[in-house]
Amino acid sequence: MAHDVLAQTVHSLLDHRDPQVASLVRQEARRQAETLELIASENHASGAVMAAMGTCLTNKYAEGYPGARYYGGCGFYDQIEEIARHRARQLFNCAFANVQPHSGATANQALFLALLDPGDTFASLVLADGGHLTHGLKVNMSGKWFKPVHYPLVYDASSPEFERIDYDAMEKICVRAKPKLIMCGYSAYPRVIDFARFRRVADRCGAILHADIAHIAGLVATGVHPSPFPHCHVVTTTTHKTLRGPRGGMILCNDEEMARKIDRAVFPGVLGGPLMNTIAAKAVAFGEALKPEFKEYSGRIVTNARALVGALAERGYRITTGGTDTHLMLVDLRRKSEQLTGADAEKWLEGAGIVCNKNGVPQDPRPPKLTSGVRLGTPALTTRGMGEAEMGVVAGLIDRVVSAGLRGSHELAIESAGVVEQIRHLCHRFPLPA
Ligand SMILES: *Cc1c(COP(=O)(O)O)cnc(C)c1O
Repeated sequence: MAHDVLAQTVHSLLDHRDPQVASLVRQEARRQAETLELIASENHASGAVMAAMGTCLTNKYAEGYPGARYYGGCGFYDQIEEIARHRARQLFNCAFANVQPHSGATANQALFLALLDPGDTFASLVLADGGHLTHGLKVNMSGKWFKPVHYPLVYDASSPEFERIDYDAMEKICVRAKPKLIMCGYSAYPRVIDFARFRRVADRCGAILHADIAHIAGLVATGVHPSPFPHCHVVTTTTHKTLRGPRGGMILCNDEEMARKIDRAVFPGVLGGPLMNTIAAKAVAFGEALKPEFKEYSGRIVTNARALVGALAERGYRITTGGTDTHLMLVDLRRKSEQLTGADAEKWLEGAGIVCNKNGVPQDPRPPKLTSGVRLGTPALTTRGMGEAEMGVVAGLIDRVVSAGLRGSHELAIESAGVVEQIRHLCHRFPLPA
């Protein structure tokens, strides 16, 4: 099976024509096949999705939109993009979809260009508490050319809402700052977002409500997380996280006038030629996501995440907000050991074949290069067919590595060697699907 995955990933032509690159791709394919992928923003796209990306569709310019291109010879491209748009509208139950953004960041850039003017105020979550860099980081275009105001989480540990969005504070901040646009949707927030509550605030201050569902798109498409529609005016997303498509972005809305502005902002505002091979792969992935199996898959992502939360909590780890409603969790490592940083845990785990990322926890006293937490997600393990029993095993392996690391580098080396072997076995039992 691992062999099939390698064969699928690297066409034999590549072996012959460029053995240097081919060898590295093969090594990466093996790494993906034989390690546990717990990065919450990653997944394993199907062979069909990857096949669509490796086609002749990379060859042609198709600037513009179906029926209105700036180059000849786009007839088949028009049909492919129409299929992608149609399936996107079906998946998210909305009237308009622009499937051209190259990534989630590009989708957000086009959103700003379409709906705001430089200097305009917008509201987003405190970035260190789970936001994305395109939501107003100073060195990002969103923070350099626009004025972000940030709403907080609840920081009072005695509150039942501890570490969840502080909706009352959000309302006060928005009513005072009168932002032209309010953003919700995050990169490291494990709980359901109350879109209706956001909409009431947006209406109070005359703001456009935008949801960035980059992380939860697959859950939204299958009803496992509530839909941002009809509450949100506009939605941006990636296509490669829980949605399990190719690396890419997308913008959705229900208003024709807004859709026209967005189309113009994507092209010619931000893009030149669209990546039509990626758009074909988006169409394939959306087709997969419309099937009943994908709904089951999405449900299992969340039951697996809850099982992993439970198994880690049993081993003495604190999970922010006390759990998860989604595919991801933030593990506060300080409960395990005050000295333990996210940077150390990430490095130790990678050495043992468990791949995740360090992540700040709410009000983290440590800088982003260290952090006090790791973010874990279950989309990729669930794609391999792992279930709740395996989540218990994975939590045990994580704890073995982290506990050994705390005892010292010699202990870590011995423990990691054993864990690597166990993970290889587990990965052979749950191979990457074709
Ligand atoms: C991942 C992510 C993005 C950006 O996606 P890229 O494809 O990496 O540009 C945007 N917003 C949120 C909330 C994300 O989590």
